[in-house]
This record gives sequence, C-alpha cells and structure tokens, in this order.
Amino acid sequence: MRFYIETLGCPKNAVDSEVLESLLQSHGHQPASASQEADVVLVNTCGFIDAAKEESISTILAFAARKRNGQRLMAFGCLAERFREELVRSIPELDQVLGVGQGQELLRILDRQEGACKETSPVLRRPQQSASAYLKIADGCDARCAFCSIPLIKGPARSREPEEVVSEACYLVAHGVKEIVLVAQDLTAYGLDLGRRDALADLIERVLEAAPELRWLRLMYAYPNRVTPRLIQVMSAYPQVCHYLDLPLQHAHPAVLRRMNRPHDAAGTREVIIALREAMPDIALRSGFIVGYPGESRHEFQTLLDFLEEMELDRVGFFTYSRESGTCAAGLPQQLSARVKRARFSRAMSHQERIARRISARQVGRVLDLLVEGDLRTSPNGRAGEMSHPLVCRSYRDAPEVDGLVFCAGEAHVGDMIRGRVVAAMDHDLLAVQE
Ligand code: SF4
Repeated sequence: MRFYIETLGCPKNAVDSEVLESLLQSHGHQPASASQEADVVLVNTCGFIDAAKEESISTILAFAARKRNGQRLMAFGCLAERFREELVRSIPELDQVLGVGQGQELLRILDRQEGACKETSPVLRRPQQSASAYLKIADGCDARCAFCSIPLIKGPARSREPEEVVSEACYLVAHGVKEIVLVAQDLTAYGLDLGRRDALADLIERVLEAAPELRWLRLMYAYPNRVTPRLIQVMSAYPQVCHYLDLPLQHAHPAVLRRMNRPHDAAGTREVIIALREAMPDIALRSGFIVGYPGESRHEFQTLLDFLEEMELDRVGFFTYSRESGTCAAGLPQQLSARVKRARFSRAMSHQERIARRISARQVGRVLDLLVEGDLRTSPNGRAGEMSHPLVCRSYRDAPEVDGLVFCAGEAHVGDMIRGRVVAAMDHDLLAVQE
C-alpha cells in the first residue's frame, strides 16, 4: 500500500510522522511522493490553538476534495484526539480518525486492509534528507498552564528511557545527522515522572558520550523554573551543546503569570537568564509570549514590553491568546476583544523587531560555524550566477524552521559544516562569507 503523510503543527508532530513513516515502511508499505499517487492519505493534525485547528481542518477538506476512487483518507494527532466525533460527523470523506500515539493501531488497520500479517519489530525512524533531526525524549505534560489544551490532548508526561533515546541518537548520527534537536512538551521535566532529578543533564552527557561525532545538540522548550545549575553547567561544558535555549516564558507580569498558573517569580526568571548568560556569554535565547490574555491590563502589557527591552531576548514569538474549550482560562472573566488582542500583537511585534535589529547588527564581524541546508543555485527558482550569497545555512543561533538563516558566499555541499564571517545583518537573517 502506498501512503502519503501530511504533517501540521509543531516539531513533536514532525517526529511522530517520521516514526509512523518508518513503522509503515517496516511493514512493507511504500511512501508516495504526492497524495494523488497514494492509496491512503494520512493527515497528522494539530489542535493547539484556533489558527492551528483551522489549518488542520482546511487541509483535511482539501484532501477530501481531491480524494479519488478507492483512496482512503485518515486523520490522526492532536486535533483528531480532541475533536474526533466532530470530525467524523462533519467530514464524511474521512475513513478513519485516530488520536495521538496510535501508530500501531493505524498500522493494524492498514495491514488488515491489505490482508497482511506481518511481525512488528522495534523501529528506529529513518532520518529525513536533512543534516538536522528532531528527537522526542518525552510526551505529554504535567504542568497545568491555564490556557493550554496540550495536557488534555496528550495526557500526563511520559519520559522515554535514556537507553532508547541514546540509541536513537546514535542511529541518527550514523545516518549523517549533524544536528539533533531535543524536543518534548516540557524538556526540563524529562525524567521527573520516572522519579529522576536533573535527568536532562544526565541524558545530554550520555548522548554525547555515545555519539561524540554529533556536531550540534540543541534544546527546545525548557520550563523557566526547571533550568537547574547542573543543566547550565552541562550545557556550557560540552562544545557540541548549542549555546541556545528555547525558554517559553508566556508573559512577564507576575499577576498575569499567576492567572496563567505559571511560575510567577519574575526575579527568579531574570536570575535564570542571567545565570545562562554568565555561563555562556554568546547564548541565544528564544522565548514565546501570549498577548491579550484574559484581564491583561495596559500596565501588564507594558510590563511585557519593558521586559523585552531590558532582557533583549534574541528570538521571540508572539501568540494572541486563544480561548480553548476545556481549559481553565476559557472560564476566566475579562476576556479581551479580538481587536485589542490584534492591536497588542502588532505592537509587540514591532517593538521586538526593533530589538531584533539591534541584536542582529551585533553579529556582524563574528565568525560562526554554519550548517549548510541548501544552495539557491540548485533550487528551481535559483538564477545561476546572480546570487552573491547562495548557500542557505543556519548557525547555532538558529533553530530549524523557527529562527533566521545565514546566506553565505562560498562553495560547499548541503549537509556540510563550514565557517562563515558575518558581513551584514538583515531584519531576521544574516549575510556571511565562507572563511
Ligand atoms: S508546559 Fe507547555 S505543554 Fe505543558 S501545559 Fe504549559 S504550555 Fe502546555
């Protein structure tokens, strides 16, 4: 059976799709390069916020409209978990709707349809054609942030055993991966469900000892009050650990954070940022913030802008608050209007853009290790000879898909690590010349 997987949402979904793809291939099913060639189209959905839900639904509807005779259409993942009955009722073209973590069930359904009876063996996912790969070390979440539907969808935190993570890391490195990005809903909660403290720091050490050829190990989604001194020490001690941390803070005003049921010790958060910068002066910090949370006053919003000005975080994403059914925040009074939320979002964006330009300008003159991810000269739209900086790269400061790029002049192949001197800064990206 030929299958086609469409993945929406976050990197954790991307990992799930890769694992499913390997699982299906291990059972003799073949990936199709386009949905039209597939016997079964699988949509890995995201149900995190309204915009993500809308995107998932419109994607399913687009596949439903193109569905040909005999083709099967299935949805799985977060949105499917949360709104299974609604999807079944409202999109009759869907043949199957499965939730999260149901890869084996999906496989059974497909195998049954083929009349196949195959042994299931442990599967290590095949890395995509990229020098960078996500590695999921846990799923689910035990935090109870008032706005978030993830624990309702994914359930409690479940950490993978370190041996399993280490063996997947070694497999990825043996298959040419140069950068591993560790992901979980809350990376710094890793191991707590297994009764282990500082398990993330131990895991990093074990991965790097088992796969010393790995060039970059990047950490995404750290919970602010769980960044321990030992984690900082391990991050700074191993040269392979990128001096980069994604630390979603959500807000900066203690009262809003309290209403969010998040750590609201503003001084503690500042101390964590200072400790990270003392241990790694070149660290790039990413964070995400919600604007327009219920009851957010003008003063509270201004506190967030002031915090951004003071802390000069390198990368920042903003979300307008999305009222999710089943969450505590959905029942809070003083829900703000869409107009106010939009206005605050635009203001926060332009505020941060000014800060980002300042930070980018400071990169000029630095020599950075760059991972080459593309070459504009070989892209279908590339115009040979007209591009002065054709190598599309990332530095340790840029996580895949969410941060900027470095366009570099030079000669190298996709997957190479090169050195580049930064010669100019654009709004989000940098220009460099190979050393
Ligand atoms: S830590 Fe992240 S995933 Fe967990 S409840 Fe909070 S926002 Fe949601």
